[in-house]
Amino acid sequence: MSAEGIRRVVIAGGGTAGWMAAAAMAATFGKRINVTLVESDDIPTVGVGEATVPSILTFHRLLKIAEPEFLKATMGTFKLGIEFDGWKNRDTTYFHSFGDTGQGCWAAGFQHFWLRGRREGMAAEYGEYCLELKTAEQQKFNLLSDTRLNYAYHLDAGLYAKFLRGVAEKHGAVRVEGTIDQVVTRSDNGYIEALLLADGQRVEGDLFIDCTGFKGMLIEQTMTAGFDDWSHYLPCNRAVALQTDATESPRPYTKAIAHDFGWQWRIPLQHRTGNGVVFCDRYVSEDEATATLLANVEGAHRTDPRVIKFTTGQRQKYWVKNCVAVGLSSGFIEPMESTSIHMIQQAIMWLLLMFPNQGIDDSVVQDYNDRLRREVLAIRDFIVLHYHVTERRDTPFWEYLANMPIPQTLQHRLQVFKESGQVFKPQDDFFAENSWIQVMMGQGIQPEGYHPIVDNMSSQELAAFLGNIQRQVQQGVAKMVPHEAFVKRYLGL
Ligand SMILES: Cc1cc2nc3c(=O)[nH]c(=O)nc-3n(C[C@H](O)[C@H](O)[C@H](O)COP(=O)(O)OP(=O)(O)OC[C@H]3O[C@@H](n4cnc5c(N)ncnc54)[C@H](O)[C@@H]3O)c2cc1C
Repeated sequence: MSAEGIRRVVIAGGGTAGWMAAAAMAATFGKRINVTLVESDDIPTVGVGEATVPSILTFHRLLKIAEPEFLKATMGTFKLGIEFDGWKNRDTTYFHSFGDTGQGCWAAGFQHFWLRGRREGMAAEYGEYCLELKTAEQQKFNLLSDTRLNYAYHLDAGLYAKFLRGVAEKHGAVRVEGTIDQVVTRSDNGYIEALLLADGQRVEGDLFIDCTGFKGMLIEQTMTAGFDDWSHYLPCNRAVALQTDATESPRPYTKAIAHDFGWQWRIPLQHRTGNGVVFCDRYVSEDEATATLLANVEGAHRTDPRVIKFTTGQRQKYWVKNCVAVGLSSGFIEPMESTSIHMIQQAIMWLLLMFPNQGIDDSVVQDYNDRLRREVLAIRDFIVLHYHVTERRDTPFWEYLANMPIPQTLQHRLQVFKESGQVFKPQDDFFAENSWIQVMMGQGIQPEGYHPIVDNMSSQELAAFLGNIQRQVQQGVAKMVPHEAFVKRYLGL
């Protein structure tokens, strides 16, 4: 380490994680810190990761990224949520939207009012009270100051990395092309000293960020951080991905379609659709999964189907000595709720907040590891919920998921919601109460009770309250315009 502390940050890998880290580090620290990114033209990025969650807007705001410029560069579209087809049972579709549904009071969320309204036969479907959901259903969008939508993006992963490279280099980050052959550690303390590249270059640093993807060349192969395998909760371990030409105007939402042995994503960009099937090789062969994907895509193929192998789980530590894992090198939870890019962002933001300016402090490292761990555990539980709470028992895959033991933390949440309709979001949970409610009810849980404060209202008052919210949503949707037309107008296309 330099005598003055951490002054040289070296990022190994130039996928989404590497360039997000480089852009954020360089934009935050400017000339104070030298940011060098090493990437290999010979080793491809994972090439998927095209749906996001609303927190990405915060990341872009911090980097002062202009939205139209970003959307143009990445062929991006807007995303208001995810439509889940065939998850509760083969015939049911539900929507997990961003944003709120209805309005609650300090003691009770909207679901309590709705549950009583439903019991008395006066409430419409839960989604009728959500602006984002109704806007998505009508394939609309708008950016209005008086009627705000919560949204995220669909983006082209390759173009996004390229775009972020531009941001990072503008702020002074330096790119080194080459394949890392060896990670050199110090004999006295095991800290990483340098990366040796195949062409003989030596890249020295004080802090190393491992963005080398699943293999975790620094964090695992060198620092042996350890890996917790969560395949028993989330058995899918393969995906087959394929890009097709767009055949319809892009929907402002992702589709997640359940199959007999996994599920399929459909991510609409301006010019093409990202498709893929996530599956478990215990229940289906790669050939069969590929055939299912090919039978369920529309539009001419732009790529060949490509199988990606993964193991669901997390590194036991994200930060070891002077090495921090960001992105797939830190672990992976499958892409159902588009949480990986969000976790890249969280890993970077916490690193910036806890930046070891004067040197690495074990207690800071521990705090960092604990925080990220808690966030990831909450995401894991949320994803397990989608698989476990289902009426589906129609194939060995769904039979296993419905009967498998689940984390105690999730078991507790499900029980509380089932009995009382209550959801309390722990501080580290990225997903808001409304996300849990939509998915729990969408997957088939109907709470038995509701909060007694709702009974302070007469039936007439409750009907007026619910009707009023529904009308507000309808009025909001009336201000929206077709999504594709909006994108074109906004980007001047
Ligand atoms: C099937 C699937 C679907 C996904 N969908 C989503 C989604 O919808 N939303 C979401 O948020 N996330 C999604 N993800 C996750 C997302 O793709 C990743 O989080 C994101 O792309 C970041 O990847 P990465 O940069 O960590 O790794 P990679 O993209 O694998 O990049 C690794 C980089 O390291 C470099 N490298 C590796 N070894 C060396 C070496 N020896 N020398 C030099 N350079 C090296 C490579 O050249 C490359 O630049 C998905 C993942 C999968 C598997």
